[in-house]
Amino acid sequence: MKILCVLYDDPTDGMPESYPVNTLPRLEKYPDGMSLPNPKAIDFTPGELLGSVSGELGLRKFLEENGHTLVVTSDKDTKGCVADKELVDTDIVISQPFWPYYLTRERIESAKKLKMAITAGIGSDHVDLQAAIDNKVDVVEVTYCNSRSVSEHIVMMILAMVRDYHNQHKIVNDGGWHIADAVKRSYDVEGMNVGTIAAGRIGYDVLRKMYPFDVHLHYNDRHRLPIEKEKELNLTYHETVESLVSVCDVINISCPLHSETENLFDEELISKCKKGAYVINTARGKIVNREAMAAALESGHISGYAGDVWFPQPAPNDHIWRKMPNHGMTPHTSGTSLSAQSRYAAGVREILECFFDGNPIRNEYIIVQNGDLAGMGAHSYSKGSATGGSEEAANFKK
Ligand code: NDP
Repeated sequence: MKILCVLYDDPTDGMPESYPVNTLPRLEKYPDGMSLPNPKAIDFTPGELLGSVSGELGLRKFLEENGHTLVVTSDKDTKGCVADKELVDTDIVISQPFWPYYLTRERIESAKKLKMAITAGIGSDHVDLQAAIDNKVDVVEVTYCNSRSVSEHIVMMILAMVRDYHNQHKIVNDGGWHIADAVKRSYDVEGMNVGTIAAGRIGYDVLRKMYPFDVHLHYNDRHRLPIEKEKELNLTYHETVESLVSVCDVINISCPLHSETENLFDEELISKCKKGAYVINTARGKIVNREAMAAALESGHISGYAGDVWFPQPAPNDHIWRKMPNHGMTPHTSGTSLSAQSRYAAGVREILECFFDGNPIRNEYIIVQNGDLAGMGAHSYSKGSATGGSEEAANFKK
């Protein structure tokens, strides 16, 4: 079979020859008891860079020894790109949300042999799920592999934004020592109202990690948590997003992107946010209206916006979020720490082993199967497509 793997570019100065940390801590299982990826074997050293082109998710030896062809590229957006050329006779495509190969209907329909799209990570909104359903292309992702990597990043961003870390760090780098400049926007998080839209694997972990900061915790979700989980963290449940945003000083967004959540934070919802709130979004860029958020930062209605998700990706060089005031954006990195890479590379290997051996893929990993939403996907996703406008990614210039 032919496997097309679309990964981000190698570091500009080449693949690392050594790493800051020698061995990764060993995790036994995820907090809900789900086991970590468990392929029969791996051909990489956990902690190495696997998510870029030369890292190849550690798959080449395994695939070639089993008679398959592996094509790896980062060239994915422009007309005539390598990924589009290779896709036409590909059986399995692997892509990462950090550098998504947008599997639009047109692309899916150009790939007559395509059987499966694997997301090396979590969040398969870069695949036109409706087109995958219509064309009987299965869609799977490595559920839980980087959820806790993201929640750590969110906690970092909450603290960085509220305490105004970026400004203070810049003063030092610029050779300065102006304390008043450094603290004129700096607060303690303690005592604040901190809320999350969605209390799933990431959202609930953010609440759990923020609890020791002595804050008031809030959440909104489609389904209310069991009462004991609410009691454990003294959570206030909000039936509507509007209710949560009107009282929270810090608003975290951790719901998937689907038709219900696309453009959720539009001008109207942003206007209902508590004046001076901080918004953190590591879920998906399209959940927040680009222009409306930039305008709210300009006016001061929102004090700060941070996250790592943009639309499209890579973000065009003139994307308004690159230049808006009081933002703490990173490129899409929270779920691709070296630690997370080792888990999703192992998860992809597990999925491929199951597929080639004719064994069932874990239900938790399945989004679309046999022409319908299935497994975890039937619970978390809606039919339809969130890939509209992705062609703008071609405007990014390296
Ligand atoms: P989970 O499936 O564990 O949690 C998602 C939660 O969102 C569920 O509790 C779900 O509710 C809830 N939800 C869905 N729709 C709505 C809605 N309209 N309003 C409120 N809540 C809603 O996923 P994770 O926590 O692991 O990941 C969440 C998202 O984070 C991913 O879909 C992905 O987009 C993003 N992500 C980003 C990464 C990054 O690197 N930045 C890496 C990993 C994920 P219910 O199940 O009750 O219906």
